[in-house]
Amino acid sequence: MQWNDPVSKLNGIGPKSAEAYARLRIVTVGDLLSWFPKKYDTFEAERPISQVQADRLVTLLGTFAGTPRMFTTGKGMSILTCTFRDATGSITVKWFNSPFLRKQITQAKYVFLRGKVSRDRNELCVVQPELFTPERYREMMKTLRPVYGLTAGLSKTAVVKAVTEALRQCEIPDLMPVSMRRQLGLWSLKDAYEEVHFPKSEETTKDAIRRLAFDEFFRFLVGIRSVKEQTETVPNRFPAKGREFAKRLIDSLPYGLTGAQERCFQEIAQDLCGASPMQRLLQGDVGSGKTVIAELSLATIAEAGYQGCLMVPTEVLAKQHFAELTKRFAPLGITVGLLTGSMSPAEKREVRENVALGGIRILVGTHALFQQSVEIPELGLVVVDEQHRFGVEQRRRLTDKGNLPHVLLMSATPIPRTLAMMLYADLDISLLDEMPKNRLRIKTAVVDSGYRPKAWSFLAEHVRAGEQCYVICPLIEESDGLEAANVTDYAEQLREALPDVRIGLLHGRMSASSKNEVMEAFAEKAYDILVSTTVIEVGIDVANATVILIEDAERFGLATLHQLRGRVGRGDKQSYCILVQGSDSEEAHERLTVLQTASDGFAIAEKDLSMRGPGDFFGIRQSGDNVFRLADPIRDAEVLALAKRTVDELTTDQYRKAVKLFLAEKDEPVVY
Ligand code: ADP
Ligand code: MG
Repeated sequence: MQWNDPVSKLNGIGPKSAEAYARLRIVTVGDLLSWFPKKYDTFEAERPISQVQADRLVTLLGTFAGTPRMFTTGKGMSILTCTFRDATGSITVKWFNSPFLRKQITQAKYVFLRGKVSRDRNELCVVQPELFTPERYREMMKTLRPVYGLTAGLSKTAVVKAVTEALRQCEIPDLMPVSMRRQLGLWSLKDAYEEVHFPKSEETTKDAIRRLAFDEFFRFLVGIRSVKEQTETVPNRFPAKGREFAKRLIDSLPYGLTGAQERCFQEIAQDLCGASPMQRLLQGDVGSGKTVIAELSLATIAEAGYQGCLMVPTEVLAKQHFAELTKRFAPLGITVGLLTGSMSPAEKREVRENVALGGIRILVGTHALFQQSVEIPELGLVVVDEQHRFGVEQRRRLTDKGNLPHVLLMSATPIPRTLAMMLYADLDISLLDEMPKNRLRIKTAVVDSGYRPKAWSFLAEHVRAGEQCYVICPLIEESDGLEAANVTDYAEQLREALPDVRIGLLHGRMSASSKNEVMEAFAEKAYDILVSTTVIEVGIDVANATVILIEDAERFGLATLHQLRGRVGRGDKQSYCILVQGSDSEEAHERLTVLQTASDGFAIAEKDLSMRGPGDFFGIRQSGDNVFRLADPIRDAEVLALAKRTVDELTTDQYRKAVKLFLAEKDEPVVY
């Protein structure tokens, strides 16, 4: 079996599961093997029911008592409940949409039960637990088990079976010369793939990750090197010297630019009339005012008679930027257009035509613009907002365009300078390291789940004052279906507790257009509280939102929490962030209190790094940089440096070969 064969070639994968895999973008056997576990589970010993606490993962050993009950909610979700008992007490157990378990639990004798404890109307219950025979569980206690990000239609067992089969049958092309592997102290690719899916120990898993991370970095850095070589030799075809439009925009602002904003725009303005096209990264913390810099740059390019585009990660953000730019550019006579995936074909065609004819000077759109072919005949500047989801492929595609436009990437991801120099070796960096003045600091509190009722009244109070709030639900890694059920459940409870409050709901299972509708309704104040998973993390700007409550906050990395918190405090009202700590761990508490005192993204990132010791290797991955599948530039900094040295030292011949192979088949493992 070959790396590029379809997954359906594996035993046990029929059309139905092939479809489920396709939803996760797993099409080939290689995709399946490169679908790395999100984390590894360890199996702890059982606890007595009398010691169970809310919001924690527990393992219990006991028996089911009484008959299981099953009912269906108004929304068609089936709920199965039963009582579970040991020598110290009993607890209710609950499953969603799992009627088939009924028979199993009536027949079960003595079992291990493992799941999350939740509080339902003041009673503790275990939600959606897994069941194991005692023999099986004792066996599991000796191992690490991979946890995959499942979707509907795929069970853990099915995935494990498929991966086993793939490892047994698929040839894994590893063209790294053995001598090179030895010299770098890296594992063979085959061993590495086997180990990450079926780990033997923490130690060996680290070795496997080292090899796989190396390959990811290597491929990335080869790409970066080629982008850099390509852009350095090209002349600047879009020189923009005029400063009139920028000046008029600045004069029309209700505030003065910060010193950092002035400096960064200077650097950009200089690039715009430099010898070769600009390739610049604008790095600035959440709320540091990057948007206005984008506006000034786009206005400058328009003044010179060229076109520009602004790309953002979500439709909601695109619409928001479009509205803002249209308003601000009207007095300058610059026409702005919008292009997003959910527009009708006719609407899209009209916008495309207008762009091609030059009527639209500035085009705002989602990153999907890359996939669709839009012809922007006089494209002089591309601005990419929130670039942390922006990989080398996209960077390449920008530079592949015939006449190389200026490129400005904007990012809020704070990364240490040494790392930035490796990851952004193809870019010049401008740092927006000063916050606008008169900004009120977001008041942040870390509380335990007992405080929840008070927190909810706090939300209600602010709603009554005409303000809006976000609630971020706990992260559930097992499956997005479960996550959706969880958010829905939470919103339901909140509706019961606060009947007068209008509550909106947002999660990853919703279609792009329903997500848009909900976000827009929230922006237009049709909802008071938005209950959501982390899908709102990126960039959104609703100035009227003043309180954000984050459940199970300790499950997120500090950088993500900082991003989430940045959703409030965007207007002139005092804003609040309530972090509900779900577990009672001292260490988690200490980590979270960092946010209580620190408000600077860089400081937080550094603190996070120093607190995540090497023992925390399997901890939650920072969601700052989704460019890599498994490699983490911060965790794997040493491997990144090794890959960087290796790529820098490739002979021209080796490098050309790598580029060729790398560009030909972008989804294959690296070939040297
Ligand atoms: P981000 O860097 O996160 O993209 P934005 O550009 O969205 O931040 O800016 C956040 C808010 O700060 C906006 O409402 C914007 O109008 C405001 N803002 C930007 N620059 C300044 C400034 N120099 N003084 C005061 N407010 C500013
Ligand atoms: Mg922004």
